[in-house]
Amino acid sequence: MTEFELIARFFTRPSRERQGVGDDCALIDAGDRTFAITCDMLVEQRHFFSDADPEALGHKALAVNLSDLAAAGATPRCFLLALALPRADEGWLAAFARGLFGLAEAFDCELIGGDTTRAPQWHEAPGPLTICITALGETPPGQALSRAGARPGDDLWVSGTLGDAALALALADGSATAGAADRQACSARFDRPTPRVRLGERLRGLASAAIDVSDGLLGDLAHIAERSRVGARLRWDDLPRSEALRRQPAALQQRCALAGGDDYELLLTAPPDRRAQVIAAGRDAGVPVTRIGEILAAPGIAVLDADGANMETPFSAFDHFRS
Ligand code: ADP
Ligand code: MG
Repeated sequence: MTEFELIARFFTRPSRERQGVGDDCALIDAGDRTFAITCDMLVEQRHFFSDADPEALGHKALAVNLSDLAAAGATPRCFLLALALPRADEGWLAAFARGLFGLAEAFDCELIGGDTTRAPQWHEAPGPLTICITALGETPPGQALSRAGARPGDDLWVSGTLGDAALALALADGSATAGAADRQACSARFDRPTPRVRLGERLRGLASAAIDVSDGLLGDLAHIAERSRVGARLRWDDLPRSEALRRQPAALQQRCALAGGDDYELLLTAPPDRRAQVIAAGRDAGVPVTRIGEILAAPGIAVLDADGANMETPFSAFDHFRS
């Protein structure tokens, strides 16, 4: 059973709300606005190493939630913080709070509550450290973006660059090597992702569908394809990649950019007559957007090489339960 089969089978029920389980955010209509709400958890040794910098963790725990709000085109408003802590270490907590509120204040997003508990004894020590944030954002009524809504003929776009966070992991586990500057650039992308909130807001009324790239481009594109009942074609050469990734061997570049998670860029679709507006949205939001392919009526996702031939892509998206 995969993570998504599990959610579909045991936790998906008909929803009374504008949108329930199955998208980046649930959507709740409330008079003069639509609320977007999302919940994401970080677990020690699953999502981060035990020696992770607490300031970066505070930033990332909120960033991954704001990224889901961005995918819904929502403006962040407030969040709840639930912690299972192995110990009350003042230095750790101060640094964690610094990272957390640094990002919260940048987006004027207020901490309004939460829950704090001590983690139980776990093997030799208490743990694992678990951080769970629920974030709430809003859009004008009915203007939130979702994974559904991509139409055949729409362009496929992605913000920023892809694969740097996955390269950071490959550098950390020794399966790749790079110079000090490239290492630092990639770990910054992994540790302190920038949620594309300002871009998401500007895509309201412009994008036909959107998702944030948290599990890898192909896997997240498959979510758009499934919810929109379409297929897609993308061109490998057009995928935006950093200088650091371009210095790596071709096979690693492909694995990182096509299947690497943790980038937190926005993947979106829009009709071709909105190209200039999408580019302007990226410019206004301070992040470049790149057209990487198009939406097709036929199901399936194809990656084309420079000659227009189908590329083998033997990668699967990250899945917590795939056996
Ligand atoms: P994302 O990566 O965008 O945060 P996920 O892949 O974590 O989304 O989750 C996919 C969908 O399943 C989301 O709509 C999420 O809210 C929902 N979901 C995940 N776990 C559960 C659960 N235990 N109960 C209900 N819905 C869930
Ligand atoms: Mg998401």
